[in-house]
Amino acid sequence: MADEENQNLTVEHQPRPSGKDVPPSIERDAFCCPHCGAYTHQYWYTVHVERMKKGSTPFVPGNEFLEHIDEIPDLPAQKREEWKKLVQKHQTGKVFFENNENYYGETVASNLNLSKCYTCGEIAVWVYDRLLYPPQRIGPEPNEDLPEAVKTDYEEARSILNLSPRGAAAMLRLCVEKLSNHLEAAGASLDDKIADLVKKGLIPMLID
Ligand SMILES: [Zn+2]
Repeated sequence: MADEENQNLTVEHQPRPSGKDVPPSIERDAFCCPHCGAYTHQYWYTVHVERMKKGSTPFVPGNEFLEHIDEIPDLPAQKREEWKKLVQKHQTGKVFFENNENYYGETVASNLNLSKCYTCGEIAVWVYDRLLYPPQRIGPEPNEDLPEAVKTDYEEARSILNLSPRGAAAMLRLCVEKLSNHLEAAGASLDDKIADLVKKGLIPMLID
């Protein structure tokens, strides 16, 4: 890609681990991009935008981090309480503003992070450990032979599966209906159309 900030990067596409996809995760600096699907390096950004050091991932503390604060020797009690409160605030998962002690006057939006794909340059939006944008597509890629209009509906079904399984099921039904019409299946109802397609050679197991 032509992005200036990437020109000095020596590692380009990282090899895809064999046999399995690496889903997007707040704990990784390389995963399968939710935009382009490439397994590649992802830059993380805090908001207000500042690129994190290479290899860093966003701060999403678990309970073990809270316990760790108790174990830090020589930490003044007041500081210990302040840190614990801050970690607990992170653990609510809500986005909040936090003053950055390292940069005078700078405030960052905590629990709101952005990742940017090295390959396609597209941005993904994360709140706490959840990917909000782009919507994740679940399930198999659409068949290349699928008509464009059906493909669009199929992709929409994949993108809303987590949010609304019933909505996704309705979209998939619509896909079958459109596909039946595309194949000029005869019949008034969808059942009739599928039965007609079976008569014309559709493998019956596809109906299950
Ligand atoms: Zn990408």
